[in-house]
Amino acid sequence: MHHGASAAYNFLMFEGESETDRAFREEVRDWLENNLPAGMRNLAVKLTPEEIAPWYGQVLERGWHAPHWPKSAGGMGATLTQQIILAEEFARAGAPETHATHALNLVGPVLIEFGTEEQKAKFLPPILASEVIWCQGYSEPNAGSDLASLKTTAILGFDEFVVNGQKIWTTMGTQADWMFALVCTDPGAAKKQGGLSVILIDLTSPGVTRRPIKVLSGDDELAEEFFDDVRVPVENLVGELHDGWRVANSILGTERFSHGHPRHCYSVLEAVKRVAKKTGAMDDPAFRDRLAAHEINVTAFAAFFRHALELTEAEISPGWAASILKLYCTEEIQRLDDLLVEAAGGYGLDKEIVVTDEGGVDIMGRFLGDRRNTIGGGSREIQRNIISKRVLGLPT
Ligand SMILES: Cc1cc2nc3c(=O)[nH]c(=O)nc-3n(C[C@H](O)[C@H](O)[C@H](O)COP(=O)(O)OP(=O)(O)OC[C@H]3O[C@@H](n4cnc5c(N)ncnc54)[C@H](O)[C@@H]3O)c2cc1C
Repeated sequence: MHHGASAAYNFLMFEGESETDRAFREEVRDWLENNLPAGMRNLAVKLTPEEIAPWYGQVLERGWHAPHWPKSAGGMGATLTQQIILAEEFARAGAPETHATHALNLVGPVLIEFGTEEQKAKFLPPILASEVIWCQGYSEPNAGSDLASLKTTAILGFDEFVVNGQKIWTTMGTQADWMFALVCTDPGAAKKQGGLSVILIDLTSPGVTRRPIKVLSGDDELAEEFFDDVRVPVENLVGELHDGWRVANSILGTERFSHGHPRHCYSVLEAVKRVAKKTGAMDDPAFRDRLAAHEINVTAFAAFFRHALELTEAEISPGWAASILKLYCTEEIQRLDDLLVEAAGGYGLDKEIVVTDEGGVDIMGRFLGDRRNTIGGGSREIQRNIISKRVLGLPT
């Protein structure tokens, strides 16, 4: 690795990338160079949805906001390689993450697959326009890893469900307008999974109470919600009644792919390099050696990610690949955070943002915030259980 290579950092160009793909990569890179405002690059703080809206408006106008959605639903209908290129180039340019991640990556694809025409017409355009914020209401105080044990009920009357219960650990729970919720519609079902359904809940409905949860890194991105006789029209049911386990699980694979995306590792790796240059850690050959080892691991991981996605696209993939990606990526990020603290030296304990030549880095915020990644979207132990059972065939 070259000592000063960070500014000219290039994502690995895979051999499989065709001339057209390379031209597309150049096009995306140039466009970002010319359009992403300098004040939005490599930000150490999260922007509010209002602050970020003009930027994603531009991305939408360019046609790149929902690369993985089909054209018929207003997306780009991009090939897999194009999707990877976009994610990599946006990460490389230090572009801020959109607040619409849940909506774009989880809710949208599920509505496209399972939604009625009315649901698609009503919900998809505002998602594309980043006009609404969605959250995912699966977990409950006594149902996380064992999700099927959830207790929030939605009892169907003549033309509406009446919802009672509680959800917890909801990302963007206080800011969200709508919740994509997994609820129990048949408490008497012989098999727990058989009594669940997915419904869309307007969080401004009477009977909804929300409370923010303060987390280790100091932000209140998570929340808990209480439902007290909340009325939800029957047309907000997604898929068939009592078939929610299948609908909900179709999201979990996608969610793990998105948690396991190598761009998250690249982003910490870049922060490590920026900070190491500032503090002088980069002059230490032993540190550079450790950094190089991580860079090799992340590069190999990115190649595996691409391979896993290709298998999934070709529908020859075992779904467990998503668990391997999620597990490796979230654990590697924590190892990279350790390296970041080491690179920071005296700044390592600083709660302030460390300013480098190429943007600020919130070292403690990252270090503490990334602890949660090995829990959200299914804990590391659950991922290991899936791998041991479905990949290694070990007895359970
Ligand atoms: C940052 C973050 C964001 C989140 N966002 C959302 C969200 O938007 N929507 C949502 O619905 N939920 C969300 N969650 C909740 C998340 O899905 C759950 O925290 C997770 O599934 C674990 O469930 P739990 O917290 O109830 O822990 P538990 O299931 O009670 O687990 C406690 C511990 O026991 C271990 N354990 C449990 N069962 C087993 C087993 N069978 N074998 C071995 N070990 C086991 C777990 O690994 C864990 O270490 C989020 C969580 C975090 C941290």
